[in-house]
Amino acid sequence: MGQQYDVIIIGEGPAGLTAGIYAARADLKTLLIERYGAGGQIVNTYEVDNYPGMPGVTGGELGAAMSEHLDKFNVERIMAEVTGIDFAEKANRVVTDAGEFTAKAVILATGNSPKKLGIPGEAELTGAGVSYCATCDGAFFKKKTVAVIGGGDVAVEDAIFLARGCEKVYLVHRRDELRAAKILQKALFELENVELVWNSVPEQITATDAGSVGALEVKDVKTGQQRTLEVSGVFIATGNDPNSSYIEAIDKDERGYIIADESCATSVPGIFAAGDIRAKRLRQVSTAVADGANAIHSVLEYLI
Ligand code: NAP
Repeated sequence: MGQQYDVIIIGEGPAGLTAGIYAARADLKTLLIERYGAGGQIVNTYEVDNYPGMPGVTGGELGAAMSEHLDKFNVERIMAEVTGIDFAEKANRVVTDAGEFTAKAVILATGNSPKKLGIPGEAELTGAGVSYCATCDGAFFKKKTVAVIGGGDVAVEDAIFLARGCEKVYLVHRRDELRAAKILQKALFELENVELVWNSVPEQITATDAGSVGALEVKDVKTGQQRTLEVSGVFIATGNDPNSSYIEAIDKDERGYIIADESCATSVPGIFAAGDIRAKRLRQVSTAVADGANAIHSVLEYLI
């Protein structure tokens, strides 16, 4: 049996890091557990232009600033993957690949991950031209032609980012209207090397003889017409799935997001959900940060 904590925070995205700062300031004995690295999904975002007070900050900079802010408080942090939690009143056991830890309260702040399309070629060519992160992999496609799939904020941001270095960018969207914020759409429509492929769904990604992406087959959902886009890269930005599979006996919505209101209290006493993993209307850095603060407020109430 490992150490006993007041609160264990799982996930070091904006929600988890904020919860860590608030926990430290409240003098709670705290452990943060993160599997990949601090910052969460924003580190894969080029620019976060709507976090108040930091116009134009990159996702990497913002994630690093939040992580450094937490370090100011000397909170315990480990790298490990949580595989399960055994609930017990004020003695929840968090099981990880680096040992077990017990805490009176646990905050689930594990966010979500990019959704897979499930089309032929996607899995086989991931890392060989298929990517879920334009800011991570875009530099490999300088002066090349690529496709981005999706019509949300991420897809449009990715297309704008890629258009800076690529010869041409196709944005393939299944409808004839984008879901992305109007300010992003305006910036996108001004780019001459971006072609919108409306009403189209990706059907297959094919490889070159060298084994990397060579083309994307799409189908027009209105006409049924097929089209082959000759591309070296396919960036998939069709939304996310929650990282909530390590925890089962808790109420979730139909997509797997953990049900909790603004207090972040879940169906299990002492277990709180904060950030993108929580069933909520708007997933932004600002709403994740708000959850982190609210979760610690609720933990303090629970501990009293
Ligand atoms: P999203 O808003 O859920 O958009 C997903 C897009 O992918 C939609 O356009 C959707 O089409 C399309 N799509 C979904 N499944 C598909 C499939 N199987 N085949 C083809 N297309 C598919 O996801 P997101 O862009 O990743 O954004 C996630 C969240 O982060 C959102 O709440 C977003 O506002 C937020 N975010 C905000 C900012 C910002 O404010 N700066 C930046 C990044 C992300 P339909 O439109 O037809 O449903």
